[in-house]
Amino acid sequence: MTLAAGAPLDAGGAADFVQPPPLLGNQYRDDRVLGEHLARVLPAAMHNAIEDDLAALGAHASEAWTAARASVPRSPELTQWDAYGARIDRIDTTPTWRQGARFAARYGLVASGHAPEHGSHARTDQFARVYLHHVASEFYTCPLAMSDGAASALAASGNADLAARALPHLLSRDAATAWLSGQWMTETSGGSDVGGTQTLARRDAHGQWRLYGRKWFTSAIIGEMALTLARPEGAAAHAGALALFYLETRDADGRWNGIRIDRLKDKLGTRELPTAEIHLDATAAQPVGELAHGVRLIAPMLNVTRTWNAVCALATMRRCLALANAYAMARHAFGRPLAEQPLHRATLDDIGAEFEAAFHFVFHVVALLGRVERGDAHERDKALLRVLTPLAKLWTGKLAVRIASEACETFGGAGYIENTGMPLLLRDAQVFPIWEGTTNVLSLDVLRALSASGVDGLVDEAGALLAEAGGDRHGVRATLDAARRWHAAASTDRDALEAGARGLALTLARAFAAATLARHSAWSTRTRGDTSAAQALARSPATD
Ligand SMILES: Cc1cc2nc3c(=O)[nH]c(=O)nc-3n(C[C@H](O)[C@H](O)[C@H](O)COP(=O)(O)OP(=O)(O)OC[C@H]3O[C@@H](n4cnc5c(N)ncnc54)[C@H](O)[C@@H]3O)c2cc1C
Repeated sequence: MTLAAGAPLDAGGAADFVQPPPLLGNQYRDDRVLGEHLARVLPAAMHNAIEDDLAALGAHASEAWTAARASVPRSPELTQWDAYGARIDRIDTTPTWRQGARFAARYGLVASGHAPEHGSHARTDQFARVYLHHVASEFYTCPLAMSDGAASALAASGNADLAARALPHLLSRDAATAWLSGQWMTETSGGSDVGGTQTLARRDAHGQWRLYGRKWFTSAIIGEMALTLARPEGAAAHAGALALFYLETRDADGRWNGIRIDRLKDKLGTRELPTAEIHLDATAAQPVGELAHGVRLIAPMLNVTRTWNAVCALATMRRCLALANAYAMARHAFGRPLAEQPLHRATLDDIGAEFEAAFHFVFHVVALLGRVERGDAHERDKALLRVLTPLAKLWTGKLAVRIASEACETFGGAGYIENTGMPLLLRDAQVFPIWEGTTNVLSLDVLRALSASGVDGLVDEAGALLAEAGGDRHGVRATLDAARRWHAAASTDRDALEAGARGLALTLARAFAAATLARHSAWSTRTRGDTSAAQALARSPATD
């Protein structure tokens, strides 16, 4: 065992051992997986142009982690009434959140994804930034995700007036003009099944649409606008009759637009993120499109927020790994650093392999999103994106919880102690499989996406990746073929199909992730002589 420098002596002169904390380096420069990926997919000039920003975000990531361990945890606070009895509903956020807009604007965390000069690579640039910044942001990435999603939904809606009004704010690189958007869907009656939405939309005597109802989870109540579902008065009771509305949260004088904040939720994790329960009472709003099919109109928003979810889940996994590896260097047991204990090393490498496959899967989806949005994609790519987005979200949501739990265990007892930061990572990870569609709900969404042409598109895409990889040594094709046969056979029995949907989705996701890693590892071995990804692939089975 080694003694930390300056370890205190007890009264008898014997030294108490003090464990040095794990040290994080620059989270961009130390990340082989991210660095190799960007080197493979980005034009060299673009990679060079963004590198300073990525390195700055990587430095901030480790500095913010260290600073947060030494500070008192804070949560947002709601003040409903002022000293004289006026209703004010003011939310005071944490210091990090108060810097959130400036930081997001400076690094273009939303805007870079829409930068025309980077064409279809814009999304890769943006999500590399988000991945580096997520943990330090204290989930400021949540309202940024919704703002990005709102920009996509408004752009796709064909509502030129609303797009002209909101997009310059949502995509602003100036904190003074930047807006955040909410995505208010969940009500007390349901988040997965929004068909029971009770919020009513009614025109007033002046023809202005006004909303009346209760929204049960609003994570961006501090934002300037929101997209929300409501049922126009007299419309049918089913989900297809819901309309999508655009609203601004404050009027021209800065007063709430018919919004009352009932309380902030007391949550397991994401505690810095103010998630409110609110009432809408004559909230002025505008329909985004036709007065029906609101769920269809908001779909582009969900595709984007689900991609953010997958990237932020990856960021959590990567932080867990960085800390677990750093701790394994610092901590000694049985005469050597944990990193040199064969079983501990194998445990860390297994986690690393799962992360690495998930990384390439998610960034494959990110690249596809970029191509589809820029119109550089075929119909086949659009269908692929439709199925790969829920798969990537559900796969990484589950994996983040598993890896955060394993990472706590790699710290031993310290992993259960609050101010190591490990419990925070575990608590926060648990949100990834819940919001933006739970694992089951997304598995059913995968079934919908497969309903047109089954698993064929995925099999073809995986085949193309494996061809680039120079072969299929890990059973990807056999796994996908078995999934295709199961899907075809179960298609005649709806209940059996639904009951097996989660198993199918997890199998497809794991196999596809292995195919993306196979393609990358072949490139990295061939062009860089680096076999790290190939070693990860060898540890990363295509089946459970
Ligand atoms: C921290 C946090 C912040 C949030 N912020 C927002 C926000 O800003 N805006 C917003 O709109 N929402 C927000 N949500 C809500 C979130 O999106 C919903 O909680 C989520 O979609 C699930 O909906 P629910 O809570 O109604 O669960 P339910 O829909 O009641 O689901 C309960 C369980 O049933 C399962 N289930 C449901 N239907 C089926 C089915 N057909 N087959 C199989 N299983 C099924 C689900 O998988 C789940 O396990 C937030 C949630 C959290 C935790």
